[in-house]
Amino acid sequence: MFRRRGGFRPGRRGFAPAIPPRLQRANQLLANGNYAEAALAFLELARGAEDRFPERAPFLYLQAGRAAILDGQTQMGIAHLRRGLTMLGTQGRFVRMQNAGQHAVEELNARGLSAEAAEIAELINGNIPQRSEHETSPARKPTLPTHCPNCGGSLRPDEVEWLDDLTAECTYCGSPVRGD
Ligand SMILES: [Zn+2]
Repeated sequence: MFRRRGGFRPGRRGFAPAIPPRLQRANQLLANGNYAEAALAFLELARGAEDRFPERAPFLYLQAGRAAILDGQTQMGIAHLRRGLTMLGTQGRFVRMQNAGQHAVEELNARGLSAEAAEIAELINGNIPQRSEHETSPARKPTLPTHCPNCGGSLRPDEVEWLDDLTAECTYCGSPVRGD
């Protein structure tokens, strides 16, 4: 699942993909509470990822949505969340859509945005197929670091792709991250 398109850092060996500095910056902005800039940075990354890394684009839209909502731009944030979740559904990644959507619903409710939370819950329910195919994930998920050591993105065990029983792929940059 390692994609070799795009540039590698000079001197970097092995199969870890290059980490876009803009992704590190976006994660930093979010971590620092600079939500308005983080929302713009993630939106730009999400749009850029649609062609090159379509499997990462939905999560970048979700981060753009989170950041916009944390900045108080609720309507725009919901639009980004809807786009990210709809993309996951279109890609057939229903387990991830459900898990990521559930996290969004909880965060919206925690901020008192219950109408918006209901809207997202409805979107998820409307996109779940009658009989959902099970996506591969280990039976017992190991503990992952909370943030990707390469790009700084926040990792959630039920949203990442698992490469094997111990190794997950970072949702945002595609680096392999080992759990214990
Ligand atoms: Zn990463």
